[in-house]
Amino acid sequence: MGLRRRRSVTRRMRVAVVGATGAVGRVTLALLRERGYSDVRAFASARSAGSTLYDLTVEEATPEVLGAGNLDLCLFSAGATASRQLVPAAVAGGALCVDKSSAFRLEHGVPLVVPEVNGDRAHENDGIVANPNCCSIPLTMVLAPLRDAAGLRRVRVATYQSVSGAGASAMDRLRGEPVEEHDLRMDWAFDGVEFDEEAKIRAETRKILELPDLPISATCVRVPVLVGHAEALWVETEHPLSMVEAREVLSEAVGIDDVLVGRIRADPTVENGLALFVACDNLRKGAALNAIQIAELALRERSAA
Ligand code: NAP
Repeated sequence: MGLRRRRSVTRRMRVAVVGATGAVGRVTLALLRERGYSDVRAFASARSAGSTLYDLTVEEATPEVLGAGNLDLCLFSAGATASRQLVPAAVAGGALCVDKSSAFRLEHGVPLVVPEVNGDRAHENDGIVANPNCCSIPLTMVLAPLRDAAGLRRVRVATYQSVSGAGASAMDRLRGEPVEEHDLRMDWAFDGVEFDEEAKIRAETRKILELPDLPISATCVRVPVLVGHAEALWVETEHPLSMVEAREVLSEAVGIDDVLVGRIRADPTVENGLALFVACDNLRKGAALNAIQIAELALRERSAA
């Protein structure tokens, strides 16, 4: 089957956006519309059932409705608790589920996919493909080409994460008050040593890059910005890679258009050190867009079978 035909088959899929009223869900609906998907349903909790979004009436997401067997694809951004309850039902009903919560990301046998980095893994699913954390996606998109060019010995990253990473209600709070009065609450779980966000970045990056022992330490910070996460990155490579070579490798990397990389320079304080600065729209490539790209990869394969 030709690529164009497979693409049109994909766009005719019956799609559910679960968590449609949220920060990621709204962007997901907009992107699906832009990409020509016509059979889309919006789901959220009972709280917003009956409201209207993009001419769609929001439905309550229940295991029964999502598992009824009339959906091809479910794009979940409803949080880990809802995903644990609803994703298995949707899979049992025959839908491919791309889940943006942390519920399944590190589960053995569930692919954790950034299409440009490990897109081949998307096909190895039993109905669930996990979408990584909004910082892990741009991070691995920058690290993968460096890994391929010179090997990775160590990674350190400091994040500057926008308020939209904490969801629609945090965005509303920031919009409704002067920036200097915004309470930058660290909304990540703290185990006494690090935030779970920092542990997630380490574990997910290792899984996506297939480098289970890669030393990687992260420091995560929330900043009073509405959308867009930034990351300062220090990398030690196995083999020397000059600033010019690193720039060339990254400029040729597939998909890097969705991630901005700059300040590429040598870090003279360590052997084979590079320092870089990375920025990405956390709601698009960091969440909604990456998930749709995963689905298009996996479903094209299904429709070609
Ligand atoms: P959000 O703005 O708070 O939206 C949460 C959405 O989930 C709302 O639509 C909410 O519906 C729905 N929901 C909550 N409980 C539900 C339930 N029991 N059943 C069905 N729907 C339910 O959050 P978000 O920022 O969009 O994030 C959603 C998920 O995506 C989280 O797992 C998050 O970790 C992940 N994610 C977020 C980002 C980001 O940058 N924001 C990036 C990557 C991944 P109601 O309107 O009914 O409450």
